[in-house]
Amino acid sequence: MSAPVPSYWEDTATPDESGARPLDGDRQVEVAVIGGGYTGLAAAYRLAGVHGVDVAVLEANRIGWGASGRNSGFALTSVGKVGLDERIRKWGLEAARASVRLGVDAVETVRELIRSEAIDCDAQPEGALTVAHRDERAPELQERVRTYREVLGYDGVDYLSREHLVHEGYLRGPSAGGGIRFRTGFGLHPLKYARGFAKATARRGAALFDRSAVISWERDGSVHRLATAGGTVRARKVVMATNGYTPEHLHPYFRGRMLPAASNIVVTRPLTAAEWGAVGMATTQVYSDTRRLLFYWRRLPDDRLLFGGRSGVFDTPAALARRRRWLEAAIADKWPELAGIGSEWFWHGNVGLSYDLIPHMNTIEGDPTVAYAMAYLGSGVALSTHCGGLAADLVMGKAVPRDTPVTATEIPRFPLPALRKVYLAGAYLAYGIEDRWR
Ligand SMILES: Cc1cc2nc3c(=O)[nH]c(=O)nc-3n(C[C@H](O)[C@H](O)[C@H](O)COP(=O)(O)OP(=O)(O)OC[C@H]3O[C@@H](n4cnc5c(N)ncnc54)[C@H](O)[C@@H]3O)c2cc1C
Repeated sequence: MSAPVPSYWEDTATPDESGARPLDGDRQVEVAVIGGGYTGLAAAYRLAGVHGVDVAVLEANRIGWGASGRNSGFALTSVGKVGLDERIRKWGLEAARASVRLGVDAVETVRELIRSEAIDCDAQPEGALTVAHRDERAPELQERVRTYREVLGYDGVDYLSREHLVHEGYLRGPSAGGGIRFRTGFGLHPLKYARGFAKATARRGAALFDRSAVISWERDGSVHRLATAGGTVRARKVVMATNGYTPEHLHPYFRGRMLPAASNIVVTRPLTAAEWGAVGMATTQVYSDTRRLLFYWRRLPDDRLLFGGRSGVFDTPAALARRRRWLEAAIADKWPELAGIGSEWFWHGNVGLSYDLIPHMNTIEGDPTVAYAMAYLGSGVALSTHCGGLAADLVMGKAVPRDTPVTATEIPRFPLPALRKVYLAGAYLAYGIEDRWR
């Protein structure tokens, strides 16, 4: 087991009251879920609560140890990294429209869960912004709003000019060249959400086992045998919910299909009123920018700035220290008044990338008893909550919407998977250069 990752979220969360404990002895269940993040919890919540079956969640570390307890807490409508025009061109108009609905449904799933289970996770008012990091990128955002409204039939987006951003208390600074405001999307405390979700899942009757890594997965006729150090779970069905921490060795299907990539976060001391005035953010709505390697940020309820971005292929102490300095420097680039502010917390975690840059929820080829949902490409708070539930339905043999490639196609294998880190390093280099000039 790995220790909890020190973070602002760990230091401000309420304890895990789900009753999760290490597996001790052998058990037989209808469905075993591997992974105790949002995907695994969502699957177990639905399996126990709606399908009424015996379910056990096996989590290698603590509940929410992975990306679910470390992310920036933006529940967004984003679906992967394929742009709107490309979705329309490649998937057709109906599937592109359905993908926008999927994103909105996912955020509504989270809101509804928080409401119905009374999860205390500091859910913020609705609103998520994508900001042009240079003035020249603003027309592209205007065009995107037009596509959403006129082509995709979605009017939950507004374009805000640089002047609007300033006057309405959204943002100031050299890299606030205009933006899209999504009316659906909000910030929450990710670890409080994970722990509240786990408690609700246990209340529905699911058995949660933490500190219980699955170390081998064998098939015994129609039964899956998942071995942990403390005992074995025998199950008729399995949901794989390991996203950016998917082991390569456990099941041959999952070999070479996921590319984990580090996303990094700093949290500053509380800013003064004058500093927030310089940043121009009078709101706790959540932000990202138009870079290929985008930065994301939010004003936390206690007036600290959370700021993050994706980079780094190796996690040596020197590399991690460089990433922290890189984020601190990026804050000063965006808001020169904050130069030298430093940070009180720094941590990172794995997001899961797929070769075709979209999330996937499906059963594995030739075996409807194994379902998975993964590869949220850094935007999985809402989608994992939604797709985990879909994976539960699918593994129970229920129909799920198959109207986008997210649920209609399988997760592809990377060509030459051994070179995945090389692809990542190459992409970072190319995107970094592009972001400098564009
Ligand atoms: C720094 C950072 C910032 C992010 N910010 C956002 C954001 O603001 N908005 C957003 O939408 N998304 C964000 N994401 C992505 C989002 O957090 C993820 O998409 C989401 O949490 C995925 O949930 P999950 O349950 O699928 O995976 P995870 O939460 O990663 O859980 C997978 C779990 O599987 C377990 N596991 C692995 N192998 C085994 C095994 N053999 N046996 C048992 N258990 C195993 C791991 O221990 C882990 O806990 C961010 C991610 C990071 C890292």
